Amino acid sequence: MKRTLIATALALLALPVMADPAHPKIGFSIDDLRLERWSRDRDYFVAAAEKLDAKVFVQSADANEQKQISQIENLISRGVDVIVIVPFNATVLTNAVAEAKKAGIKVVSYDRLILNADIDAYISFDNEKVGEMQAGGVLQAAPKGNYFLLGGAPTDNNAKVLREGQMKVLQPAIDRGDIKVVGQQWVKEWNPTEALSIVENALTRNDNKIDAIVASNDATAGGAIQALAAQKLAGKVPISGQDADLAAIKRVIDGTQTMTVYKPLKLIATEAAKLSVQLARNEKPDYGSQYDNGSKKVDTILLTPTPLTKANIDLLEKDGFYTKEQIAGH
Ligand code: BGC
Repeated sequence: MKRTLIATALALLALPVMADPAHPKIGFSIDDLRLERWSRDRDYFVAAAEKLDAKVFVQSADANEQKQISQIENLISRGVDVIVIVPFNATVLTNAVAEAKKAGIKVVSYDRLILNADIDAYISFDNEKVGEMQAGGVLQAAPKGNYFLLGGAPTDNNAKVLREGQMKVLQPAIDRGDIKVVGQQWVKEWNPTEALSIVENALTRNDNKIDAIVASNDATAGGAIQALAAQKLAGKVPISGQDADLAAIKRVIDGTQTMTVYKPLKLIATEAAKLSVQLARNEKPDYGSQYDNGSKKVDTILLTPTPLTKANIDLLEKDGFYTKEQIAGH
């Protein structure tokens, strides 16, 4: 009798960590939920996962790599089936991922690739294409002149891939002597204030002779445009972005930002939720490609981005990304 009681108690204790494929548990570790983009990703992801009978535990690392590592450890001890990670720093999660894998947990890299780690899958938009669209949009508006390249966070692999895409488009124009790169810098944590001071300094160093800026996202473009505005150059210097942030849409309509890149967040979040549930249920997701992360070829789903200018901004409303009121009330 006593033995059965102990056995039952032990079985009960073990229950929370036992996998239940019908109701998978998913941990979602996000670099920084304080940003508009990532809280939308979270909302869409949670909704899609719950529809598939999964439960999601969300954590925000607030742009702190140590915090992200302990949050991942916490998710491991909770006994989740899958951990989905938007890494703050691409290069520091090797051990945390190894621990998860040892515990039988599947790991998915979301939007940003985790480098040198045994992850199971990667899902993102085609960041090289995003980079090509950014440089292409700016080059069309400024086919000649002095260029400044405002890169993303040095800790984010996407920043590097975006630059590769941008250079694919810019290099021929550089080789022809049409454009000259007068400076380039990476923006720590994609921080708009940092972007502002980088562009302020670049303008000073070049006597305001900067004809175009290839910015890697909307947040940093926002900082750069503030620096341009202080020199009465906003609207005169073509500049790119990405994310279709509401503030950027306002700038595109006003003509101070040349273009942005629209990435339907509901699509990536829904696909990621589906992929995670499939992994938890030991089913085989449909991958389109593979991506080398330094330690293996990672099964990858790459989604298609869309360049956005004033001309096709109504796509956002058609797609339900913003309401007419949100766009009009800018
Ligand atoms: C994402 C961008 C985002 C940036 C800053 C990148 O990894 O792909 O959409 O703007 O991080 O959060």
